[in-house]
Amino acid sequence: MSVVGFDIGNLQSVIAVARNRGIDIVANEVSNRATPTMISFGDKQRYIGESAKNQEMSNFKNTVNAIKRLIGRSFSEPEVQETESQFIGCKLVDANGEVGIEVKYHGKPTVFSATQLYAMYLGKLRDTTSKELGGVISDVVISVPGWYTDRQRRAVQQASKIAGLNCLRVLNDSTAAALGYGITKTDLPEDSPRNVVFVDLGHSSFTVSVVAFKKGELKVKSVAYDRGVGGRNFDKALLDHFVQVFNDKYKLDIRSNNKAQVRLLAACEKLKKVLSANSQAPITVENLMNDVDANAMYSRDEFVELIEPLLQRLEKPIQKAIADANLSSDEIHSIELVGGSIRIPAVKQRLTEFFGRELSYTLNQDEAVARGCALQCAIASPVFRVRDFAVNDITAHPIRFKWEAIAGSDDDTSLDVFSHNNGIPSTKMLTFYRKQPFAIEAEYSDPTHLPQGTNAWISRFDIQNVEPQENGDLATIKVKARLDLSGVLAVTGAYTVEEVEVEEPVPQAEPKEGEEPKEPEMRKVKKLMKKADLPVVQASQCLDSATLAELAKQEREMHAADELVNATEVAKNALEEYIYETRSKVEGEYSAFIEPAEKTQFLSQLNAAEDWLYDEGEDTTRDAYVDKVSGLKATSDPAAERFREDKERPKAARELREA
Ligand code: ATP
Ligand code: MG
Repeated sequence: MSVVGFDIGNLQSVIAVARNRGIDIVANEVSNRATPTMISFGDKQRYIGESAKNQEMSNFKNTVNAIKRLIGRSFSEPEVQETESQFIGCKLVDANGEVGIEVKYHGKPTVFSATQLYAMYLGKLRDTTSKELGGVISDVVISVPGWYTDRQRRAVQQASKIAGLNCLRVLNDSTAAALGYGITKTDLPEDSPRNVVFVDLGHSSFTVSVVAFKKGELKVKSVAYDRGVGGRNFDKALLDHFVQVFNDKYKLDIRSNNKAQVRLLAACEKLKKVLSANSQAPITVENLMNDVDANAMYSRDEFVELIEPLLQRLEKPIQKAIADANLSSDEIHSIELVGGSIRIPAVKQRLTEFFGRELSYTLNQDEAVARGCALQCAIASPVFRVRDFAVNDITAHPIRFKWEAIAGSDDDTSLDVFSHNNGIPSTKMLTFYRKQPFAIEAEYSDPTHLPQGTNAWISRFDIQNVEPQENGDLATIKVKARLDLSGVLAVTGAYTVEEVEVEEPVPQAEPKEGEEPKEPEMRKVKKLMKKADLPVVQASQCLDSATLAELAKQEREMHAADELVNATEVAKNALEEYIYETRSKVEGEYSAFIEPAEKTQFLSQLNAAEDWLYDEGEDTTRDAYVDKVSGLKATSDPAAERFREDKERPKAARELREA
């Protein structure tokens, strides 16, 4: 059994595994410790991660990034249409109620939902991990932004199922970083907590959380976000700037040329990174468009001025998180930093100013979230021994339940069940008086905090089999609502209760010394006792099980097709290598072990195979390549064997002499 954590980042994702009593980061097929969160669709196969990144420039219309921003959202949401579409090269469409993309795959326009894309990407991380660990992996913990809605969290769980993974917990990313911090500290206080602020500035969003640590536990006190500030917004600011600059300088209409835009954006990201270490730097794009090599110098000061409006936005979430946590500055132990964009000197400087104190860099800013996820998986898993550490998180979005009043009553028809910053996990008991089955609708009670246009509706719960009491009165019904470890809402039980008379001993004072204990007196009291469970049917914004099974099947088929394409490529390369290697051997070291006539014939066979490879064999099946090699080996293997025996003979004779 594996213990795995995935930090799914908007730009790149990190895999951590627990093994050898520690947490390791898993490097991918090109030895990078982070894998681009990107998928590209081709005529023959899908490219996921590093290989998608290689396709990005040439195949940008069929390449998707930002899947973290799309999953569990609708095509109609303004934020998806206006903001996300600016960062995504391919066409966004509606995919059965969820946002999806339309790309050319296997030569045909094909639609994939964001959940499917997320599943494809998880499949890639799964393969990288199982290659490293040498076995099938199942249990994982996946990080998500704390602002993800119920629908988004469910979508991540469903994507995991499609990818054949068992997601033990969907963990808020700043909480994951906090867990990684807390579990390694041996000096956490027993009583008055140590308050630490975690600041994460990644590629697409900014998060500030305040966490109270005590020995063996953490409690998130507050979290605040800005979903619209991150590295990609800095890149975009630079892109807009240089589109203008190069337009003026070279008269290039870069906006009209998608490819030029993609290439200029890549140059802008590079420039941004170089400016983190240098006060000025060149930006160069060879043959940007119309044969023009575009270049310019740019300074860090200019960059800071350009992103000033974005830098200012960092202040509000900081103030909100601190205010919500109700702490004064001297009650904060330290400020820990996470995320790639923290490397920008102006960001560090601004954070120092806003907090009014020095920052702390004890976490690995790129890997802290993945490590926390693997640790959470280790805590939840029976196979790995790790110090127990309680993770008490909170929910960002308050939840209200609504129902219809019974005719003629003026009872309340709604209740705020989970407040802003309510702890997770959390269970609440609600009481209803009814004679008939009834429905409860759950919704977010403060949609202003949700991305604009997000459906505030979460779930409907139908409480069934409700009947009046025997005397015709309203039945008393208890409904158990739960926000689980992943921040997902469910009604985990409903049942009727009735008042029954029970006998119980009357509490007595302790007998005084020397006094005989009195005979216990009994009394009759009325108590509410559970009578019968009621079935609850939940409807949520997620895929039904039949669709889920179908998507899992499709994913397995696409995966098998990709594997076959890869295996075919390997077989083709093997044939090519065989031809070159064997030809030089037959002309060289095997020459004396093959009849001249046979040699001539064999060399012409090799030449024919080579011609075939660049002609009809350019694009054929794996078996055809394998068969070709086997056919040729019928001649070369005996020659190789004779050569080997001849080499072995003197050695054997020598060994005989020495013995
Ligand atoms: P998110 O957490 O927002 O989903 P992510 O986890 O993929 O995204 P990170 O890996 O934390 O994001 O950070 C990536 C961002 O950091 C990118 O925008 C990248 O350009 C930026 N970045 C990385 N190194 C530097 C640097 N040296 N200077 C400036 N920015 C940098
Ligand atoms: Mg991140």
